[in-house]
Amino acid sequence: MRFLPVFLDLKAGPVVLIGAGELLRAKLRVLSAAGARLRVHAIDGNLDLGLSSEDAARTEIATGDPLTAELAGVIAVVCAGAGDVGVAMSVRAKALGLPVNVMDDLEHSSFIFPAIVDRGDVVVAIGTGGTSPVVARRVREKIEALLPARIGELAEFIGGFRKSVNERIAEFPLRRRFWERVIDGSIGAAVLGGRRSEADAALKAIADPTEFARADKPEGSVALVGAGPGDPDLLTIKALRTLQDADIVFHDELVSPEILDRIRRDTARVAVGRRVGKPGIGQDAINQRMIEAAQAGQRVVRLKGGDPFVFGRGGEEVEALRAAGVAYSIIPGITAGLGGAAHFEVPLTYRQEATRITFLTAHKASDAEAVDWSTLTDTKMTVVVYMGMTAAPAVCAGLFAAGRSPETPVGVFARVTRPDAQGAIGTLRDLPELVQRISGGPAILIIGDVVRHAGSLRGDTLEKTPKQIISDLLDAAE
Ligand code: SAH
Repeated sequence: MRFLPVFLDLKAGPVVLIGAGELLRAKLRVLSAAGARLRVHAIDGNLDLGLSSEDAARTEIATGDPLTAELAGVIAVVCAGAGDVGVAMSVRAKALGLPVNVMDDLEHSSFIFPAIVDRGDVVVAIGTGGTSPVVARRVREKIEALLPARIGELAEFIGGFRKSVNERIAEFPLRRRFWERVIDGSIGAAVLGGRRSEADAALKAIADPTEFARADKPEGSVALVGAGPGDPDLLTIKALRTLQDADIVFHDELVSPEILDRIRRDTARVAVGRRVGKPGIGQDAINQRMIEAAQAGQRVVRLKGGDPFVFGRGGEEVEALRAAGVAYSIIPGITAGLGGAAHFEVPLTYRQEATRITFLTAHKASDAEAVDWSTLTDTKMTVVVYMGMTAAPAVCAGLFAAGRSPETPVGVFARVTRPDAQGAIGTLRDLPELVQRISGGPAILIIGDVVRHAGSLRGDTLEKTPKQIISDLLDAAE
């Protein structure tokens, strides 16, 4: 290691910045964003630095020769696009023992700028010894994705309680245990989830911090996580992070193997979902097992296809967790209807043509009876049907009874966002036949004029565009 990362106190004094053009302005933005007080020598005379009024208040435009300017109290010298002046300035700064950076010139620099991940009080510096800023940027992107957005708030939250907790817990190892339990438990989760006042109240409610720190069981929790429709890249950053932290994952059958691959190797996995033909362990047993695992101190993930709150029984699970007093959180996922719309390029709303969307389920004929079809008469409403393959005839009958035209465009979209996705497009009249063409679920139906706008049918052998298919069908019907 040639360069040791250290953190410079920007409150200690001004930074002198010397340079010209866009390079100068880029460095100026970095330093201003960090909150530095700046003394800027624009050696090309262009003083249009594009500063906000707040940054401008901390920035002094220096006149005169930087090589003879007063440097007392200055904490660092930075040159960007300064040419020979930068080199001369480096010699001068080094002679005075001042840290100096000359952009893209290791020889004349005594420090270099890392790539940074900035989360308030939490800052990560990434260096490659000046060899490759592009590599540093790639590393930064990975860390950006890994670090919760509110990690800086968590540090600040703890900072606010540190003094009082230190006074109440004398021994250092116990104090560390105390903070580990706070950070890893429901209080930390509340801060990271943006529920600061809840976290505040919970920490203040700890009557005996020593006893809290000594408890041998970690505090368990359950996260209901939406896995999306299949493509692992459609997991949210938060879902991925939660999966990586889990001790045990209870997952639906519907969750794709590629997503299960993203779970840490040493995490227990339990398949609990129902699937057509297989009963699964039942909702009460699922709730019970999640609650027991959390009460035993485990970080539990309940991983569900699509979104947990769209035809996913997430509501029932949350009620059970609330009743059991278990800490929980909910992480939304991309529901199959939205995944299918994106995959097959069906805009669910369209100016003038489609102004509202209904998501409904019609699993069995009895569900179809429960649907009030008369609410679906609006031709400007796009209808997305979940679990609709077996109930296709009932869906047709219901929509016809509601007065929807048999010529209404409809798409059957199976295994959306997965490599083996398949679609079939036609009109409501042919729906039962369209469903036959699909070689297996899960599938959604999208019904409404917007289906005309679908892109080419990936995975299907048809050579016509959706628009042609539908207009040919309509011509034939006339
Ligand atoms: N919570 C899930 C829905 C669960 S109900 C979500 O938000 O997506 C199960 C139904 O979802 C299936 O019968 C099917 O209609 C739909 N579905 C789930 N994954 C799908 C996929 N990859 N492609 C098409 N439909 C899917």
